[in-house]
Amino acid sequence: MAYDQTNIFARILRGELPCDTVYEDEHVLAFNDIRPLAPVHVLVIPKGPYTSLDDFTADAGPEVVGHYFKVVGEIARKAGVAETGYRILSNIGGHGHQEVPHLHVHVLGGRPLGRMLPDARG
Ligand code: AMP
Repeated sequence: MAYDQTNIFARILRGELPCDTVYEDEHVLAFNDIRPLAPVHVLVIPKGPYTSLDDFTADAGPEVVGHYFKVVGEIARKAGVAETGYRILSNIGGHGHQEVPHLHVHVLGGRPLGRMLPDARG
């Protein structure tokens, strides 16, 4: 899928829209989710034009991918959720119910989060 330059996170990266930044470096931006699902709900995005974890892990170099995930862990520690536990989540494509087509990892924590998915197995 071609990268959509008009997506909301691309607009945040270009400075066209504000965000509540919690971390920024040359390659990564992290900001609070506008509709938080937990006391800690941070979105971590690469600055490069990657639609999802799919093209990111296929096309970005190992140093860029490695740095990105180092930052995810660092943000969780800085947010104070590493000791109590937290969840990272990245929705990818249609079945993943991805709404914004720019790679983002959700960092969720600050309360017990329950099961990973509603369990339809009973
Ligand atoms: P996803 O379904 O994984 O694509 O999630 C997109 C996330 O982006 C949702 O949790 C939204 O609440 C969040 N979101 C959408 N627009 C903004 C925004 N302008 N600033 C911060 N978070 C946003």
